[in-house]
Amino acid sequence: MQVPFLDLRTQFQGLREELLPEMTAVMEQAAFIGGPALRDFEAAFAAFCGTEHAVGVASGTDALQLALRAAKVEPGAEVITAANTFVATVEAICLAGCKPVLVDMDPETYHLDIGRIEAAVTPRTRAIMPVHLYGDPVDMDPVLEIARRRDLLVIEDAAQAHGATCHGRPCGSLGDLAGFSFYPGKNLGAYGDGGAVTTNSEAYAAHLRLLGDHGSPKKYHHEFLGTNSRLDALQAVVLAAKLRHLPAWNERRRAVARAYAERLGDLDGLRLPRRREGFAPVFHLYVIRSGRVQAIDAALKAAGIGFGYHYPVPVHLQPAFRELGEPGRFPEAERGAKEILSLPMFAEMSEDQIDYVADVVRSALTA
Ligand SMILES: *Cc1c(COP(=O)(O)O)cnc(C)c1O
Repeated sequence: MQVPFLDLRTQFQGLREELLPEMTAVMEQAAFIGGPALRDFEAAFAAFCGTEHAVGVASGTDALQLALRAAKVEPGAEVITAANTFVATVEAICLAGCKPVLVDMDPETYHLDIGRIEAAVTPRTRAIMPVHLYGDPVDMDPVLEIARRRDLLVIEDAAQAHGATCHGRPCGSLGDLAGFSFYPGKNLGAYGDGGAVTTNSEAYAAHLRLLGDHGSPKKYHHEFLGTNSRLDALQAVVLAAKLRHLPAWNERRRAVARAYAERLGDLDGLRLPRRREGFAPVFHLYVIRSGRVQAIDAALKAAGIGFGYHYPVPVHLQPAFRELGEPGRFPEAERGAKEILSLPMFAEMSEDQIDYVADVVRSALTA
């Protein structure tokens, strides 16, 4: 048996009949940028996230960068985020002209350690960017409490967390703004790049629309420096169709996670994602942790099972971001990076595939 890390081909076969007529309609109308397809998707996505507004942009990276710009987080301002995240979180902060200030990982949740946020605040801090890593919601109440007290904005990196909830409230609706990615492999993935910003602020949403359209409120008039960052109509119809399936897909991912837990929960030296009361993750990734991750790696490879590392190198140890901290600066993130591994996780996984992956992991650790 072969088990891919993610199976978008099988997903497409289930969507073909539904998607192709809608994509064809966009092409027949030659309405590729903006228009009703985009507005419909934005309205549906905002409703899904429980926000007043969703604004489509070109990628998750742009969503975070433009969220900072729309909220007038000025160049030079400091933005606090996690040392263990995908580089795009930190890239977006830099691209907005701001200075990322990293916080070490909480070894319990793998989120940024909320207890360390306050010590990272300086007079130049303007925002906190918590990352709902792996689709597991950050405990936002204490983050929002710090933000309120220190007069900081909260911009969620919700790129992995479409549909996840924190005390019943969806990720994307918890801060002042949130950035989502529709990269194909995300829980809600386009057939290309895409992203969105969600917010309850009419002013932020209006500014975002202009930012992504060359700062142009009307034809031949450019009010301020913008860029080209739009979600195109073909992607919007793909995403609108997939959004109708997303609740069921997320439910299925949770079932896969439960199945893994049943099969692997008793193994010594293996840490599975923890359940936390009040939080409903969507398992963008199913990340296990073990001191014997190399043995698991070798066994999965030999068994034809896809897997990944998210992420094997903390941001401050990447050559591009060396100025954010010397080696040893974020010990929990550095230790975690060496011990984590992401197992296959997708809604279309069969029981046989889950059994096979679990058996291979079990024998790697009991051999
Ligand atoms: C995917 C991702 C991004 C960036 O999204 P793109 O659409 O790839 O630009 C940002 N942050 C996190 C945590 C991500 O996983």
